[in-house]
Amino acid sequence: MGKQEDFVLRALEERDVRFVRLWFTDVLGFLKSVAVAPAELEGAFTEGIGFDGSAIEGFARVYEADMLAKPDPSTFQILPWRGDGPSTARMFCDIVMPDGSPSYADPRFVLKRTLGAAADKGFTFYTHPEIEFYLFKDTPEAGSDPVPVDRSGYFDHTAQSHGSDFRREAITMLEAMGISVEFSHHEGGPGQQEIDLRYADALSTADNIMTFRTVVREVALSQGIWATFMPKPFTTHPGSGMHTHVSLFEGDRNAFFEAGSEYQLSRTGRQFIAGILTHAAEITCVTNQWVNSYKRLIGGGEAPSYICWGHNNRSAMVRVPMYKPNKGQSTRIELRTIDAACNPYLAFAVILAAGMKGIEEEYELPRETEDDVWSLTERERKMLGIQPLPKTLYESIQVAENSELLAETLGEHVYDYFLRNKRAEWESYRGQVSAWERDQMLPVI
Ligand code: GLU
Ligand code: MG
Ligand code: MG
Repeated sequence: MGKQEDFVLRALEERDVRFVRLWFTDVLGFLKSVAVAPAELEGAFTEGIGFDGSAIEGFARVYEADMLAKPDPSTFQILPWRGDGPSTARMFCDIVMPDGSPSYADPRFVLKRTLGAAADKGFTFYTHPEIEFYLFKDTPEAGSDPVPVDRSGYFDHTAQSHGSDFRREAITMLEAMGISVEFSHHEGGPGQQEIDLRYADALSTADNIMTFRTVVREVALSQGIWATFMPKPFTTHPGSGMHTHVSLFEGDRNAFFEAGSEYQLSRTGRQFIAGILTHAAEITCVTNQWVNSYKRLIGGGEAPSYICWGHNNRSAMVRVPMYKPNKGQSTRIELRTIDAACNPYLAFAVILAAGMKGIEEEYELPRETEDDVWSLTERERKMLGIQPLPKTLYESIQVAENSELLAETLGEHVYDYFLRNKRAEWESYRGQVSAWERDQMLPVI
């Protein structure tokens, strides 16, 4: 057993840990958890804890159901919301097959494999997510409209509001779990919040997002309110996105930085953006995986709806943010499609794969879009070669079905399962008669 495992076993005794939760994520991005007694951990490190993979969404075909969860000791943390007394800890797991090989269905492995391919070319992938979500007064009830906890807007300072109390407690808890928060503020919609995590390598960030979603829900419940990462809970208020800033490093050098070039952006950086744009429609199914995700991407509300890039252009899908001269390490690009209801492991994997393709194939970056793309006419957009993003989950699935990049990056099993699941979601949705249709038709027809 290695040093990190020894550290965990010692910490279990010193911190009086009674339960260890082993966490992993299903294909759609839902957290799974199994609690084990500390005495089981030595075995968990060496052999893993067995479970029935076929019972987990997208994990296994019935005839190869046995799988093992192997905790990653570098992710050991005490859970701060379990209160005083004996503690509970958690670790993220890698999922392995009985012969010890990595499970092809484990989203964490999909990301690790993609990071490995980039590492072979000398690159490390860093990400920084801006996570938006709504806070509601009550637990959602079928058929009734959710009520936001406040009526404030962007950057509003709200005295004694639920929002600021909430952010303070959530951030304290995140920091207690080793997750650094960079910014937090009230977002544009009533009850809408944003919390931004510090830059970290993409695997840590994906783990952190899973923890973040859990912490935010726990803190909301403890305050008698409800938190949701649903991409578009209201027709008339902005949606919740998870804009993600990304960059590649070669050793300790930012590979997107080149002094003196436009926006300090290197050739590698330009090719990476070109990769994202070229494969934008294909990867949208993963970065925006729900029927509801597409109601956010309708144009306006600072959520993109066209495939283009720009500097400081908030209607663009990819933005090169303001940069600080001589601060090359901070050169990065911001991807604005992705929402926080995605599976972060799979989403980061496909973003990286698309960017890497741009580098490998030396894609040319098209001209940047300086205008607000929403205010252009259809004809103007056509002349500029600006394509729309998929408008529905259905359109997204159709593009994804023909995507080699997606099949290769997700691996055959995850790719097949994911598309099957998304088709079923679309089929279930398309038969639903909405209030909008009734309101439009009943009075006149
Ligand atoms: N809420 C917006 C979105 O759905 C983003 C607002 C912002 O620029 O932070 O993407
Ligand atoms: Mg925001
Ligand atoms: Mg942003």
